[in-house]
Amino acid sequence: MSLSVDALSFSYTPGRMALDGLSFTLAPGSFTALLGPNGAGKSTLFALLTRLFTAPHGRIAIAGHDLTHSPLKALAALGCVFQQPTLDLDLTTRRNLLYFAALHGLSGRPARDRADEVLAMLSLTDRADTPARALSGGQRRRVELARALIHRPSVLLLDEPTVGLDAASRRAITDHAHTLAAQGATVLWATHLTDEVAPTDRCLILHKGRLLADAPAATLAAGST
Ligand code: ADP
Repeated sequence: MSLSVDALSFSYTPGRMALDGLSFTLAPGSFTALLGPNGAGKSTLFALLTRLFTAPHGRIAIAGHDLTHSPLKALAALGCVFQQPTLDLDLTTRRNLLYFAALHGLSGRPARDRADEVLAMLSLTDRADTPARALSGGQRRRVELARALIHRPSVLLLDEPTVGLDAASRRAITDHAHTLAAQGATVLWATHLTDEVAPTDRCLILHKGRLLADAPAATLAAGST
């Protein structure tokens, strides 16, 4: 499994569980939507997956590496796009990518080649030398997705990556994420927008820190009518 979450529990305040014994696994080359109302525990899960917090109970493994015991190997297999944009607006698209590549220990020719590769994957080649400030909102998000791929992660976490975008840009981002999954990435896409979920997408529905449902969207929709 690419991502394995086992009996994960976390609370901010004693007696109130933000996550309560959460377990699921994601296979390589899969796209999974993580849905749930505000307060369901989506952000808490992402904070634990990215090791912003450590869970006292439960286990997370990324690409087979235990996040507690082998954090560097586990995090090296993880790419993230956070809700809040984090591009350096004064740098060009390419410089943003090369800066991030350097943080992952990639430099020189291999870094430039990989940057060109991910720019092509996200249809951004013609924006490589444009300052991020001059890009549209949708293009900026695609740069963030390209940046998340620079170190060839096997698992991609996307936390409401389409917030604030117009319909066409949202569609472009969801299409790219599905393409990446079809090419072998494991994609976990947190959203509260059900129209971003395709009928065949696997959906994990969180409610009060527990898994309420785990099924393809079409099955869940049929069950709710
Ligand atoms: P979601 O991202 O699905 O909206 P969260 O993970 O933010 O859900 O919240 C899960 C639960 O944890 C909620 O009950 C929320 O009030 C609580 N919570 C989240 N962040 C904090 C915090 N920093 N301090 C205390 N409680 C928090």
